[in-house]
Amino acid sequence: MKRPEYRGRFAPSPTGPLHFGSLVAALGSYLDAKYHHGNWLVRMEDLDTPRCVAGAADDILRTLEVYGLHWDGEVIYQSQRTSAYEHALQQLQDAGVAYPCCCTRKEIADSALHGIDGPVYPGTCRNGVPAGRTARAWRVNTHLPTTSPVSFIDRLQGRISQRVESDIGDFVVKRADDLFAYQLAVVVDDAYQGITDVVRGADLLLSTPRQILLQQLLTLPTPHYLHLPIIVNAQGEKLSKQTLAEPIRKAQVVATLFQALCHLQQLPHPQLAQASVNELLDSAIANWQPERLAGLQTVQAMHGSNSL
Ligand code: GLU
Repeated sequence: MKRPEYRGRFAPSPTGPLHFGSLVAALGSYLDAKYHHGNWLVRMEDLDTPRCVAGAADDILRTLEVYGLHWDGEVIYQSQRTSAYEHALQQLQDAGVAYPCCCTRKEIADSALHGIDGPVYPGTCRNGVPAGRTARAWRVNTHLPTTSPVSFIDRLQGRISQRVESDIGDFVVKRADDLFAYQLAVVVDDAYQGITDVVRGADLLLSTPRQILLQQLLTLPTPHYLHLPIIVNAQGEKLSKQTLAEPIRKAQVVATLFQALCHLQQLPHPQLAQASVNELLDSAIANWQPERLAGLQTVQAMHGSNSL
């Protein structure tokens, strides 16, 4: 059967400039898309406005361009897609699978049910907000007989199965501060952009079953997933703004790309270290073999790559 046209994406949160870990994620999704003669789209996940940094989205786009990672079509911005998320929430409400919740973070933490990604919601509001309390957020009811467990085959990590109701619990789709949650927005936008293949860091692996559950509840297609090993520093921490990963430079582009390919276990020919950006990328596309990453959960940043 012919596969639908491949459409991949890179979806950075503009909370700061690109660091080496996010470059590796961008490069992995770009190479996979181009290897499959597909389109590669960029979506700015600027929904969590308090965490966004002014100018970061433009800086990320300029960096992608300097690194030869040219996207197809228009960049979409989640901050401009609120009505689509409203519509999806309405669909969940109409189907009776989303409910309003009055609980504070503290109340939930105090209930001490722990899952694999933080506290599990104890279910206080599942059958209605207690009298005298005011709803603050919207949650999805994961205790539905038809939805558990959620399983999928990751192209790299193999079969993943999760009991969302006990491993994660009823999760938030609209937050108490009125912002839509990442889990809902990503599902709505992957479908809107016709994404067939999601290639991203394995730090999001635990989120994928929630996203598949939402796709099922909203009758949206489920893309193929490939979760890349996470790049960690010498302390074993994920490179991120929180662990003070430095931004990648807009100079020494070939050297940085070469190193990113090594982290993706792509064994670029040493001579390519002297090539142009386009030559290096063309060779990497032609030789793309993500299965070389099989079995790796993390890849430690090589000496110095944190400061490239
Ligand atoms: N915006 C998310 C991040 O920067 C990535 C979302 C995704 O790829 O699904 O971590």
